[in-house]
Amino acid sequence: MIRLHDTLAREKRPFVPLNPQRITMYVCGPTVYGRAHIGNARPAVVFDTLARLIRHEFGANSLVYARNVTDVDDKIIAAAAAEGVDPSVITERYERHYLEDMGALGVQPPTIAPHATQEIPAMVAMIARLTELGNAYEAQGHVLFSVPSDPDYGVLSKRDRDAMVAGARVEVAPYKRDPADFVLWKPSGEGVIGWDSPWGRGRPGWHIECSAMIRAHLGETIDIHGGGLDLIFPHHENEIAQSRCAHGGLPLARFWVHNGFVDMGAEKMSKSLGNIVTPAELLAQGHKGETLRLALLSAHYRSPLPWTEALVTQAKTNLDKLYRAAGDAQPGAPDAGVTDALSDDLNTPLALTRLMALDDPSAVKGSAALLGLLQSSAEEWFRGGADEGAIETWISMRAQAKKNRDFAAADRIRDELKADGIILEDGPSGTTWRKE
Ligand SMILES: [Zn+2]
Repeated sequence: MIRLHDTLAREKRPFVPLNPQRITMYVCGPTVYGRAHIGNARPAVVFDTLARLIRHEFGANSLVYARNVTDVDDKIIAAAAAEGVDPSVITERYERHYLEDMGALGVQPPTIAPHATQEIPAMVAMIARLTELGNAYEAQGHVLFSVPSDPDYGVLSKRDRDAMVAGARVEVAPYKRDPADFVLWKPSGEGVIGWDSPWGRGRPGWHIECSAMIRAHLGETIDIHGGGLDLIFPHHENEIAQSRCAHGGLPLARFWVHNGFVDMGAEKMSKSLGNIVTPAELLAQGHKGETLRLALLSAHYRSPLPWTEALVTQAKTNLDKLYRAAGDAQPGAPDAGVTDALSDDLNTPLALTRLMALDDPSAVKGSAALLGLLQSSAEEWFRGGADEGAIETWISMRAQAKKNRDFAAADRIRDELKADGIILEDGPSGTTWRKE
């Protein structure tokens, strides 16, 4: 029996899915305008591990896991304008990088990855419904959700009104009836990405994207909604309000699962603070994807995770020990102690402690697989050099260096890979690699 902490209930509850043959999980995915940092990687790894546990418990085809791609956003528009390119150039580049980086960390692709730009009709339909019901209104080309129209607003974050208004950090636009109201649709000026709608040419706000895509792909009420702690307010609060009001009061999710921050000393890692470390940099320094994955799983997902050199070194030492213990054994059934720990609200630190204590090689290999670890052979692990995810990351960093006309850096990457026995071959459709 899996138990999960539900942010809405503020307690751990037994996870009993609505339909065990079709368990639904939605996790808010990346806004693709820059390289992911290790804090962005934490939810990807945490919910990948939860997906593995659910599939182990309920069956390989039991779970539909959706993780969206936010590919229309003001930050994307700004990044595209700065480079003088179409927004799709930015979004395609950084989505590719995101998948490469997460792939290197052993994150399996979600079952579905809906893209905001492909789902505009579903968003327009939901906004129109909210307008009809009196939960939203049009003002100066914008459509806003009316927070006072929803008496249950604030149920997830449990904030009082003043804190909500302060927390939303809205510049109170003159067209808002209430300072807490939030944007569902906004107008797009000349030359800015937009779509025709009943309210004129414009683009959706971020919150409506998730509500509309959840409904379109998973249904009105899903089993698990996940994301980082920072999304509780306002993003998830707003998702709840939109979906509940549009769906006659049905709950949006039965479990709200939130992971804690990765921090650098006293501060949360964030792009705006400029204190980020990216998986791409760590991989290029020679760390392996599995080392970073184990480091990310070494604290409980709800706790803060201080990111330090010592953490990464310890993860590498532990993996060396695990690979030595597993040898070239075939994966067996996972150890009950490990599955019990994971089933208790994904207690990965306890699961790792128990995994480290196992001595049956096939149990080590099978239990590690549940955590997404020991995915290569012991021979590959100890041979040194690079794993495939890292090689792909180096190749894309080299391509970027060449694009920036930094040929010295590009040559250095090629030479370092060659020293590891990896030969790069440049062809008309890009760079491929082979072992020497
Ligand atoms: Zn979302």
